[in-house]
Amino acid sequence: MKETGKYQPYNYFQLMEVSLRELLVEKGIVTEAQVAATVEDMRNRTPERGARVVAHAWSDPEFKRKLLADGTRACEELGLDVPALRLVAVENTPAVHNMIVCTLCSCYPRMLLGIPPDWYKSRNYRSRAVREPRAVLAEFGLDLPDEMKIRVHDSTADMRYLVLPMRPAGTEGWSEQQLAAIVSRDCMIGVAVPRIA
Ligand code: FE
Repeated sequence: MKETGKYQPYNYFQLMEVSLRELLVEKGIVTEAQVAATVEDMRNRTPERGARVVAHAWSDPEFKRKLLADGTRACEELGLDVPALRLVAVENTPAVHNMIVCTLCSCYPRMLLGIPPDWYKSRNYRSRAVREPRAVLAEFGLDLPDEMKIRVHDSTADMRYLVLPMRPAGTEGWSEQQLAAIVSRDCMIGVAVPRIA
């Protein structure tokens, strides 16, 4: 087993990763090259993918309808593979704001948003998002009107959510590229809303 550095022993998770990976390679189940290619592929997934989906839904009502009906299939239409997962897009409206969490661990629409931020995986967010979502959103700087309902979606291993934010007023006539630029990762988790600078 290779060490990370002379005076730096592996931490628990690094040790788990290295042990499992070396065992799988040793048993001929995967190759180092396959692992490297998969890691590279994961790094290439960024929130720009999700933003593309949102911008397209804002621009094309027919696509939006498809996205809300079957997120997985709609993403495939854009060439975005969502393997073996059910993607559910939830739409923000003036009456309902959606936010996503995984109360159990860190399930996240990685194929559209990449690697989840640390706070998403924190015990603090996972427990408080369901108990006091309004207070959590306020800490993110998002104060919603009292009459707006908040719907919290608990992700699972085979079901992932993506928030479809409301298109801000003043973006009429914008290209999909311009629209995508205002759709941040946090907007698609539901802890922020798109704003025009
Ligand atoms: Fe999870």
